[in-house]
Amino acid sequence: MDLKQFITIVPDWPKPGVKFKDISTLMNNGEAYRYATDQMVEYAREKQIDLVVGPEARGFIIGCPVAYSLGVGFAPVRKDGKLPRETVKVDYGLEYGKDVLAIHKDAIRPGQRVLITDDLLATGGTIEATIKLVEELGGVVAGIAFLIELSYLDGRDKLDGYDVMTLMSF
Ligand code: IMP
Repeated sequence: MDLKQFITIVPDWPKPGVKFKDISTLMNNGEAYRYATDQMVEYAREKQIDLVVGPEARGFIIGCPVAYSLGVGFAPVRKDGKLPRETVKVDYGLEYGKDVLAIHKDAIRPGQRVLITDDLLATGGTIEATIKLVEELGGVVAGIAFLIELSYLDGRDKLDGYDVMTLMSF
């Protein structure tokens, strides 16, 4: 299936000059959403994944159906102040600014094999921060899956040494 036809490119959003890749039109199509999910499940299957971890909010949309299909849990990574219990935190730079990400301290047990998911790899800052959180808790990043990679931003350079898969590249 050609998944690119389900991505809507929105010019000048959220700011002038940005060509935003809107994945909501892919999620809106049941066949496309399932196909994309199945591709990630197939990628993850041989990696003995114990847990899926994804950053808010679109990392949940991608990761939760994958976790369900693999029969493993999902741990959310959220902006600072959103998680109700004890967290570990990391500062990160993203395409449009700076922020703090957090994960519950008891979300990952040492040695657990983690699949990280998100909708899109841009500069790689979000996923680099997510990797730090997973590793700080003793998790092993066994794979990283994105719907989309903006290859011209070279986000993969930040993920050197990790197993990365993307379903579409722009
Ligand atoms: P990075 O940290 O620079 O790699 O940016 C990736 C994060 O920004 C992801 O969590 C995406 O959800 C979001 N993002 C950046 N650009 C886009 C886009 O064009 N479409 C959808 N999400 C985007």
